[in-house]
Amino acid sequence: MTNPVALVTGGSRGIGAAVALRLAADGYDVAITYSSRSEEAAKVVAGIEAAGRRGLAAAVDAASVEDTRAFADRVEQELGPIEALVCSAGITRDKPLALMAPEEWSQVIDVNLTGTFAACRAVTYEFMKRQRGSIVLLSSVAGVYGNAGQANYAASKAGIIGLGRSLAKEVARHGVRVNVVAPGFIETDMTAALPEKARAKAAKTVPANRFGSAQEVADTISFLVSDRASYITGQVLGVDGGLTL
Ligand code: NAP
Repeated sequence: MTNPVALVTGGSRGIGAAVALRLAADGYDVAITYSSRSEEAAKVVAGIEAAGRRGLAAAVDAASVEDTRAFADRVEQELGPIEALVCSAGITRDKPLALMAPEEWSQVIDVNLTGTFAACRAVTYEFMKRQRGSIVLLSSVAGVYGNAGQANYAASKAGIIGLGRSLAKEVARHGVRVNVVAPGFIETDMTAALPEKARAKAAKTVPANRFGSAQEVADTISFLVSDRASYITGQVLGVDGGLTL
């Protein structure tokens, strides 16, 4: 018996790393992509292997449809058929729109939104053929409600919701599910970049009165990916400590 295989984009740090380790604990062999931090990626692979599963990591630019496709093919050759895809690779380039450079707009759209398209495009046809597969996409509270200073990021994350819901409708009859997770403030390098004053102010706006952990998002994704969520598709699930109430 071979283990099921999961592909996690942006799996070297933060939410993606927590998802990769959680899916390994769930019994998956896990392949991860990252941008440049090979040491962090190697640590995640070591964690996957410590759980008794096979791990694979590669620097693959999420924005490249071709490179993402090539890596998905490699994963299938080396680990076996992919059953689960989690798209966590993401970046921010925050600035008020009036000051935003065109590159700051396009970099965020390319990595976050085109990157999500690239990963979904790389696995969907095979998932449909096999009548099996589960996809979870990372949006954000900013993608649902918008956020001042994040027009590029919010647009990419709103786009991910549209992509996810549309794809869910296309593939449901083929036994494939697609869901979207919209985290609020989660303790990762992404939010560590915020000034301390802004972090404290942000935490006060959360009814739970704290930031969430990457583990809490990973536990939610573990559920959505699994057969325990077999009748859930096309949903956008907030993991935000009540921020959007
Ligand atoms: P993070 O800690 O900054 O990690 C980002 C991950 O994405 C890293 O693995 C990074 O690789 C990878 N990455 C960045 N650019 C890439 C590219 N061009 N190609 C491939 N991989 C790339 O981020 P996070 O906080 O875990 O966020 C994960 C996802 O959740 C993102 O989509 C983010 O928008 C979303 N999210 C986060 C929060 C939050 O509060 N943290 C809230 C809502 C939504 P390297 O390690 O090599 O740089």
